[in-house]
Amino acid sequence: MLCADSCPHGAISFRIDENGFWMPQVDAERCVGCKLCERRCHQVRHNELAPLPAEQPLKGYARDPEIRRHSTSGGIFRALAEHVITDRGGIVVGAVCEGDVIRHRAVDSIGELRALQGSKYAQSDTRGIYRYVQSCLRAGRFVLFSGTPCQCNALRTFLGRSYPQLITVDIVCHGVPSYKLAERHLALNGGEAIVSFRAKSRGWGRDSFVTIRKGQDEVIIDDRADNLFYHAFMAELCFRPSCYKCRFCNIRRTSDLTIGDLWAYRFTKEYDPLGVSVILPNTEQGRALIRQCCGIDSTPISWRTALTNNPRIYSNRAAYRAISLSTHLGTLYRYLPARVADYLIEAWYSKRRHLFFLWAVWLRLIRRRLDLKNSGSLEKTLKSLEK
Ligand SMILES: Cc1cc2nc3c(=O)[nH]c(=O)nc-3n(C[C@H](O)[C@H](O)[C@H](O)COP(=O)(O)OP(=O)(O)OC[C@H]3O[C@@H](n4cnc5c(N)ncnc54)[C@H](O)[C@@H]3O)c2cc1C
Ligand code: SF4
Ligand code: SF4
Repeated sequence: MLCADSCPHGAISFRIDENGFWMPQVDAERCVGCKLCERRCHQVRHNELAPLPAEQPLKGYARDPEIRRHSTSGGIFRALAEHVITDRGGIVVGAVCEGDVIRHRAVDSIGELRALQGSKYAQSDTRGIYRYVQSCLRAGRFVLFSGTPCQCNALRTFLGRSYPQLITVDIVCHGVPSYKLAERHLALNGGEAIVSFRAKSRGWGRDSFVTIRKGQDEVIIDDRADNLFYHAFMAELCFRPSCYKCRFCNIRRTSDLTIGDLWAYRFTKEYDPLGVSVILPNTEQGRALIRQCCGIDSTPISWRTALTNNPRIYSNRAAYRAISLSTHLGTLYRYLPARVADYLIEAWYSKRRHLFFLWAVWLRLIRRRLDLKNSGSLEKTLKSLEK
């Protein structure tokens, strides 16, 4: 959405398309053909690669267990945000759920931070936020901007220069699923709204995708056979097309800090149900912020521990496009009864759909091949880091 903030004539709007993804539209009456939107767009223009990280990765978590309980991983985001607001009088920018969509919002009080906590599994609407951050930076305020790697890079491209009082924190990003998934998941289970995408009711990493509101109750769909969202996400079927050729899911990060789940600990004795984060300090400013933030407990770990079971730190996984359904969702739901389309999407990951057994086996074989390719790229990344 960088183009919308870049256009000086307000000619670019966004709407959610039939596949459930935000897509741009240009108003031909307003557009003067200056091509500023294209020159800024990091999907179109050539991007310089950032250097390989020089700093050691860290494992860490917020010292306050309440923060960890309400965060998706170790609560690093909230601990940093509190430090920026309290000790630096700064503003914090992150994603919130607003009705049926996710939006980026800027806040400057501790009371407003709760809404920013937690992963929201859909693309957030960032319209207006890059301009707003620029105005804050020009006024000399400290800004902590958190978002997907492409959004953090978009902010830097929009600004066109560096600011010492700006810190960007990107999340390790699997890809953003279609809004259609959330919509169908709610319709299937009679829910009115999504309360949280990943709850820790069974402990970190024992995923409860997703908690929905049904009247007065908050419900998690425990039977995975009915959990359309879970299947489509885990099977990597329904991400935005740009996420299958992502230029930003790479070990060479342009943000100051990267935070994600420390999945290497998930099945080991170090497992902690409150959640543990992996932290990559990509720049000296990022490293300094972690050191100064007294709400975070952190320890250095090896690169192998940081990267194990978390391929999106170093791999763009373009090959997975071969199994994606994301560009056909609109067609599926237009021409098939919604129940049949849901059934197809759930089929291959759930293993319970015997009718699709052969299809499921075939897709699993492809997936296995793709996963093997990924482990090859883990070794390659580790070698380049050792050098
Ligand atoms: C779509 C998506 C895919 C992810 N995939 C992986 C993965 O493959 N591996 C992994 O280790 N971690 C992944 N994560 C990140 C992880 O789940 C945590 O969000 C991250 O580790 C931060 O955790 P936390 O406890 O510090 O803070 P939290 O409080 O859990 O997260 C806070 C911040 O995350 C950002 N955020 C949340 N949702 C969005 C969104 N839709 N768009 C932009 N920013 C958002 C916000 O700015 C928010 O304020 C993903 C997150 C998302 C949203
Ligand atoms: S070409 Fe210029 S006027 Fe037209 S949409 Fe792009 S930025 Fe706006
Ligand atoms: S996978 Fe890449 S393109 Fe997709 S949201 Fe994440 S950073 Fe952006």
